Amino acid sequence: TQSQPAYKRILLKLSGEALMGDDQFGINRDTIVRMVEEVAEVTRLGVEVAVVIGGGNIFRGVAGGSVGMDRATADYMGMLATVMNALALADAMNKAGLTARVMSAIAIDQVVEPYVRPKALQYLEEGKVVVFAAGTGNPFFTTDTAAALRGAEIGAQVVLKATKVDGVYTADPKKDPSATRYASLSFDEAMSQNLGIMDATAFALCRDQKLPIKVFSIFKHGALKRVVMGEDEGTLVHA
Ligand code: UDP
Repeated sequence: TQSQPAYKRILLKLSGEALMGDDQFGINRDTIVRMVEEVAEVTRLGVEVAVVIGGGNIFRGVAGGSVGMDRATADYMGMLATVMNALALADAMNKAGLTARVMSAIAIDQVVEPYVRPKALQYLEEGKVVVFAAGTGNPFFTTDTAAALRGAEIGAQVVLKATKVDGVYTADPKKDPSATRYASLSFDEAMSQNLGIMDATAFALCRDQKLPIKVFSIFKHGALKRVVMGEDEGTLVHA
């Protein structure tokens, strides 16, 4: 173990489901507060944190509520859902003593400021947490792709993909007790073994940009900090 963080700037991708806790949908306040505490710990290490938040807990363009709807319209609803999550997350961050700024890929200027790259970079340099809302701003994409895109744009050293499972396993650990966690693997290995790390667009962008992805559990206490400290936690997908 080292005493200095392994990364100076990280892009953390939180799915909408991560905000639900044990609820069936929506935003669970206790869950958010716990998650924010994990984020606060790494900012205290001096690490610059940007977050891309999903929207699946409120609305998913391609499933459920959108059956029969025009796909692009449903996707815009999904992006608006991420704005609500971003507001809730930033609110909890500010209450926890962090300074958070929400930036939206879709103009809704009365609610949140628009995404402007130099502004985002400035906030990060100032130690503020930037929460990117509304995904990429385009239908037919996902917030995973937004994470890859924003991660590349802000020069993050890693995209941290927060999941319920603490990494990528050789098989489903719930079904196969002999399944083991990969500590690391290459983009090519992940592809050839069909390991669904992120959707194809997001994965391709990270791979092209040689932007490593770390899959880890946001619900495991201290895991985010261990990831940032370069300890053996989660799974690293690298070039
Ligand atoms: N979405 C979109 N473009 C984007 C990001 C998101 O159209 O760039 C829509 C899409 O409908 C998606 C929904 O927003 O289903 C919620 O995002 P996502 O499914 O990525 O959220 P998560 O699964 O991370 O909660």
